[in-house]
Amino acid sequence: MPQVRVFKDELTVQRQTKFDDIPVDVSMSYEGERIRKQDMYVEFGGVKVQHKFELFRVVPEENVEDGKIVLIGPDLNEFPEGAAHQPLGIIVEAAGKELKPEAEGVFERKLHYYMNWIQGIMHTGSRDDIWIRVSKKAVKAGLRFEHIGKVIMRLYKADFPIIEKIQVTFITDPQEVEKAHAEAVKIYRARDERVMGIREEDVDVFYGCVLCQSFAPTHVCVITPERPANCGAITWIDAKVAAMLDPKGPIFPIPKGNCIDPIGGEYEGVNEVVKVKSQGTVTSVKLHSVFENPHTSCGCFEAIVFYIPEVDGFGIVSRKYTGNTPIGLNFIQIANMISGGKQVSGFVGIGLLYLRSRKFLQKEGGWNRVVWMDSYTKERAREWIPKEILDKIPTEKEVQTVDQLKEFLVKVGHPITKLWAEAGIEVAAPAQAQAPAAEAKPAVEAKVEMKAEVKPAAEAKPETAPPPPPPPPKPEAKPEVAPPAPKPVEAKPEAKPEATAPMAVPFMTVSPEEAAKYGLPVLPFPISITLQNVRVKISKVIIKKGDTVERR
Ligand code: SF4
Repeated sequence: MPQVRVFKDELTVQRQTKFDDIPVDVSMSYEGERIRKQDMYVEFGGVKVQHKFELFRVVPEENVEDGKIVLIGPDLNEFPEGAAHQPLGIIVEAAGKELKPEAEGVFERKLHYYMNWIQGIMHTGSRDDIWIRVSKKAVKAGLRFEHIGKVIMRLYKADFPIIEKIQVTFITDPQEVEKAHAEAVKIYRARDERVMGIREEDVDVFYGCVLCQSFAPTHVCVITPERPANCGAITWIDAKVAAMLDPKGPIFPIPKGNCIDPIGGEYEGVNEVVKVKSQGTVTSVKLHSVFENPHTSCGCFEAIVFYIPEVDGFGIVSRKYTGNTPIGLNFIQIANMISGGKQVSGFVGIGLLYLRSRKFLQKEGGWNRVVWMDSYTKERAREWIPKEILDKIPTEKEVQTVDQLKEFLVKVGHPITKLWAEAGIEVAAPAQAQAPAAEAKPAVEAKVEMKAEVKPAAEAKPETAPPPPPPPPKPEAKPEVAPPAPKPVEAKPEAKPEATAPMAVPFMTVSPEEAAKYGLPVLPFPISITLQNVRVKISKVIIKKGDTVERR
């Protein structure tokens, strides 16, 4: 049986927001605090931990003992120093006559705030995808779960007078976390069901959230019935409730205004609000596009859609998958390239629930352009993927490299191969290709010789005011890995980060006009380079026979 300890906080009961008895500071100024591996005493969750979660529940009054803190399992100081990948469950239960279960997701997201306000705690992620580090200094100063519980409860009661009673349970015993995690997942799924059936066309108001601006200064989540928040924690209904409960909070209504692009999902009202909330950095957002002014990416996204130029398709990798994608980068490395509130053409952070949206990647062809998913994400999205394409999307189990990917797509007759054919792209049988399955004839039996022309990307614009590199999720990111580059032009940038930390180079497509503006050679193809905090020197450009090059 795991050890169970119970504490009581009288200041919570009295609704007092003092922190004199907490051994570390508590202040908004600690939002964004980074805790590097060498400074960490203990780490909970993260991609290598299967069972971790945080949950907010609205429960009947008789089920809550105001100010109670329960700890099931070891306390912070009882882990060995440097302990990583520990399971953790956090359950906040609250009661109040005005409290509505519909608001659970919104209250739950506040945990991200409150935990980060505690000096020596770094919190990222949401729901069952959290990652928390506690610093050596904080544990040595005496910080324990009891104190974290007190801070959380006092802040909740200070912010929300409608919370009449509140209690917190921390679970660190692995078996107990596993059991509670299964229940938490059921609750998340039930919440997600509520928003299904509502379409963007049915409503006049979307919602925005800027909670992540402490990490991603130009990030604005636009939450619609068909595009949930990047963190996966807030649906359109959650956001609606949040904006009503806390009109001065980080979640606010966005009158959507006239539709500019019904396929891409661009609205006048959204553009206006995002421009203001991003301090003028982001002036246009297409909610359902990866190439054209995609949604900004914060750092809390559950998954990333990334472009694979060699096959003109998209991969999807989730935070839960630690291995490499076919482009040779893992989730953290790609996340480093796109997070911080950036719009990076060809990449976009998403909440996993967006995979069930009818408007998913609508601008670029939806599921017919998805050519790879990690196995966790594919399993999670299994029932949302159109049946006719389900078996044609490989995972890391079938495909590890771009060459294997091309071979697989041809073999199974993935719809993308038809697009290659329609675009007049030359295809030749891969050297090691096996005969295609009888029921899955390839559209073109040939080896892919991509011509690099990717129309949507050609219109992409470089960022003009790159935000600072975002803190999470990345401390252990490996040094730069060469970005994928369209063929046949091979531009090999020598990226020299100006920041001290090694950073991966974002793939970015530059139009001829933009190339001219930055003094780059003007080529008939998009070139993949980065203009983000690095100086770029193109040392080698390979022009294939028959291509023309214009010099100015
Ligand atoms: S990911 Fe978006 S919705 Fe979620 S907390 Fe951050 S800004 Fe808000």
